[in-house]
Amino acid sequence: MSDGGFNMPDFFGCMVFNESVMQSRLPREVYQAWKKTITQQKCLELDVANVVANAMKDWAVEKGATHFTHWFQPMTGITAEKHESFIVPTGDGRALMEFSGSSLVRGESDASSFPSGGLRATFEARGYTVWDTTSYAFIKDKTLFIPTAFCSYCGEALDEKTPLLKSMEALNKQALRILRLFNPGTRVKAVLPVVGAEQEYFLVDAAMYAKRPDLVYCGRTLFGARPPKGQELYDHYYGSIKPRVAAYMEDLEKQLWRLGVYAKTKHNEAAPAQHEIAPLFTTVNIATDHNQLTMDIMKNIAAKHGLVCLLHEKPFSGVNGSGKHNNWSMRTDRGANLLEPGETPYENAQFLLFLIAVMRAVDVYQDLLRASVAGAGNDHRLGSHEAPPAIISMFLGDELDDIIKAMETKAEYENRENEEMEIGAAVLPHFLKDSTDRNRTSPFAFTGNKFEFRMLGSSASIAEPNIVINTIVAEALRGFADELESPEGVSRTLWKLLRRNIREHRRIVYNGNNYSEKWVEEAAARGLSNLPDTAAALSALVSEKSKEVFTRHGVFTEQELQSRYEIFLENYCKAVNIEAFTMVSMVRGSIVPGVLKYQQELISLISMKKAIAGLALPYDCSLEEHILTRICHLSGELLENLTALEETLASKKQREPQEAADFYSKHVCTKMAALRSIVDELEAMTASEHWPFPSYGELLHSV
Ligand code: ADP
Ligand code: MG
Repeated sequence: MSDGGFNMPDFFGCMVFNESVMQSRLPREVYQAWKKTITQQKCLELDVANVVANAMKDWAVEKGATHFTHWFQPMTGITAEKHESFIVPTGDGRALMEFSGSSLVRGESDASSFPSGGLRATFEARGYTVWDTTSYAFIKDKTLFIPTAFCSYCGEALDEKTPLLKSMEALNKQALRILRLFNPGTRVKAVLPVVGAEQEYFLVDAAMYAKRPDLVYCGRTLFGARPPKGQELYDHYYGSIKPRVAAYMEDLEKQLWRLGVYAKTKHNEAAPAQHEIAPLFTTVNIATDHNQLTMDIMKNIAAKHGLVCLLHEKPFSGVNGSGKHNNWSMRTDRGANLLEPGETPYENAQFLLFLIAVMRAVDVYQDLLRASVAGAGNDHRLGSHEAPPAIISMFLGDELDDIIKAMETKAEYENRENEEMEIGAAVLPHFLKDSTDRNRTSPFAFTGNKFEFRMLGSSASIAEPNIVINTIVAEALRGFADELESPEGVSRTLWKLLRRNIREHRRIVYNGNNYSEKWVEEAAARGLSNLPDTAAALSALVSEKSKEVFTRHGVFTEQELQSRYEIFLENYCKAVNIEAFTMVSMVRGSIVPGVLKYQQELISLISMKKAIAGLALPYDCSLEEHILTRICHLSGELLENLTALEETLASKKQREPQEAADFYSKHVCTKMAALRSIVDELEAMTASEHWPFPSYGELLHSV
């Protein structure tokens, strides 16, 4: 792409119908009415919507768009769109471009093919999409995209966005209660969770990818012997970026900038062929839309460069998998970060309250956080010494931990109940931010003025974990606010409340190495839960505790929770099932023929050598015989393991989603692992010309 005349201010967001475009293209009253809908969460009146729609259409058509689509996030983890053209017949054989307010704010589509977990009876297949006015419309592929929420005829959420918006509202409400307690005259009107999601990915050569059915069908390799060189030298991490990758990254960034995504950093990651892109943080519903857009564009652009972008959590065994670090904090509409240690004693006390609220939330609802990142792909990554284990804990850094410990135990704080605000000043040094050392092993780390949740899988939507974080923090703040609003007053209640919560929840804080065996034992001793895989993790969604917290804050109904639980279980079963069948077909269709061919070649050579041995000195056949013996032995084991997997798959009777998931996790996954280890050994023994698939070495080092 030529840089001639590249002008960032003109270029950035040029395909977005953003606030400045609205300001310049909408009549003043209409612009203000729109603005009111987002700041005061009012409904958009139809006459206003008509004017906005028309202006949007004119703008989009000027930029070459011919279609529009409501863009939504069903429970498939990715986005969905259905394009409609702006065209309307004039009645005399001509056509006009038109776009009405009602088409802008509400769409109707057949929802029957999207997962609903039994929420949508088949006779009522309609689903509705409703414009999320806080997320800007944009143009991609000559189409005007309108970010929407998706729900059933009866209003149940069929998507990721609806509950996300509700969880933001819950957090807003409770955080405002706290701010008003600390400062009754506060002018803050809203508190918004903001998120920056760092996205990891792999790039492989498109021609090689096409030769690997496992990558094509499952997004990850199901076989692959270790290459001679993996990531042991750590020479790829932050290494110089190769030209083909650099061209891809440049192209990607430009596409994202056009769409108003603040793509900010890019670098090579730990594994060969692994990279990362991170945007600047923004309000979480927009961060979620942008992350979906980013993943979509990452995949599309790769094709132009002869590459394929792998977003799977574990494309290659033996090298690092990919995650998505979710940097989360709370900001007021006046720009203050509630997780920033403050300048005044007042702010420091408030900061400690928010910090301890998060600590309480993470401890009480550890299982929900764990469930929010569960998925077939992430099962291969969590706890495999490259990503946090499946045990939730929180990193605070030694300094903050010391402060918390002191608050819990030291008598001097006891005596200061009446000068509580000063304690904030006394205990919180200003250099906190830079001195939180970077523990990369913690699943939930405080990094100076935000929390970084590191368990998210690279391919998943960030909506689910953020719905959980927003809701559980809202719940902790609700409890705190209830207590602080007592007649005793904030001053008398605050330190008692904080101390009690520290005492009850400090077990969740761990500043050591989360990858170590020692931690697994210690966590068990502390009573922290350890839910190793998806089948074990998801039932937390439908526990009494979960139903209580989500219904109390109006984020999910019990039926919605049940439906999501079932959808996630089904998604898991389907993913494992596809992988198992892909394995079987790769072995039967390609690996067996390749290995037999090689055996045949060895046998012919040996018999030829033996046949001519009568005429001359005997030829040494030890090498061929050694390889042949080993391969024959492995072939036998291959048959055994292949049959075991096939029989297991054929024996599946479980119909209930949880039982089915347990079956896949306990029986199918173990058989797959056993089969894989035989195949990988065979790969190492077989001549590469007879091995039907590109090797790990080729895949990882070809770009
Ligand atoms: P790292 O060193 O882990 O890459 P950075 O400090 O560069 O971390 O930030 C990573 C991500 O965190 C970026 O998306 C950044 O915009 C985001 N981020 C920074 N500050 C905040 C904050 N206060 N709240 C939420 N996200 C933040
Ligand atoms: Mg990070």
